[in-house]
Amino acid sequence: MANVQLAKNLWSMKFKAPEIIEEYFGAGQFISILVCDTWEHPLRRPMSIADVKGDCISIIYKTVGAVTKSLAKMHPGDSINVLGPLGNTFTGWEDGRDSILVGGGVGLAPMLNLHKMVKTSTIIIGARTSEEHFLSHSPQEGIFLTTDDGSIGIRGTVIPTLESQVMSKQNPKIFACGPEPMLKAVQSFALENQIPTQLSVESYMACGIGICQGCAIKKTEKEGIMRQTYHEKYDLVCVNGPVFSAEEVTFD
Ligand SMILES: Cc1cc2nc3c(=O)[nH]c(=O)nc-3n(C[C@H](O)[C@H](O)[C@H](O)COP(=O)(O)OP(=O)(O)OC[C@H]3O[C@@H](n4cnc5c(N)ncnc54)[C@H](O)[C@@H]3O)c2cc1C
Repeated sequence: MANVQLAKNLWSMKFKAPEIIEEYFGAGQFISILVCDTWEHPLRRPMSIADVKGDCISIIYKTVGAVTKSLAKMHPGDSINVLGPLGNTFTGWEDGRDSILVGGGVGLAPMLNLHKMVKTSTIIIGARTSEEHFLSHSPQEGIFLTTDDGSIGIRGTVIPTLESQVMSKQNPKIFACGPEPMLKAVQSFALENQIPTQLSVESYMACGIGICQGCAIKKTEKEGIMRQTYHEKYDLVCVNGPVFSAEEVTFD
């Protein structure tokens, strides 16, 4: 196991998980982690798979609460309980369109994973300040960093950079992961401009396997389709996602 700090409150953990790799399908899938140090946090926490190499997988995590703060204190030799791989994957990046990848905050983890598979792509990563970034802003290589305070890369959210990149491509396609306000903004831009888009949703969830129902997300209403029951109206991010096409789901 390796556990290194990448940037402010941002860590990367790499560990052996051959059984998970055997079942792994691709970028977008996640694992669910139980830290077994005390009885204080009995619930699993979902983390996107950021990389797969040999028999190891990597995650990139932000220290926001009890479990991620415990993870940051771990050393080689310590153990965690990992369930996975869970969820679906991004699809269709090899269809010849110009892929534009957008990651906000820790939403960068699955986007970095996808970036390795998409040969020619543009990646836009947003954070609040330069302290939260660990990549270099390199537009000539298709890597665009944005910061709310302009301390590195382009000042502002990822949205203006996404818009200008979309306008510069002939046949764009968007893949995005990040906090809900960012996904909502990407979704409304994509739908208005009819750009094929897949969104990986990071909702709060406890089990990761469809039992707790904590990660329900509303399906978009469609003319002529009458949805009555709970299961007709909602998808679960853990088992139906986390990747959805922009037309499929509605954020509250
Ligand atoms: C499919 C999926 C993939 C994810 N991948 C990653 C990843 O690669 N790296 C990463 O750092 N995190 C990821 N997350 C989010 C991560 O699971 C949560 O941040 C987790 O709850 C942190 O656990 P904690 O005990 O440290 O903090 P908690 O005590 O659980 O939470 C601390 C604070 O963050 C808020 N919070 C927690 N989770 C969320 C959320 N999903 N949305 C909004 N607010 C939240 C809580 O309300 C609380 O205020 C992912 C979530 C999903 C659903």
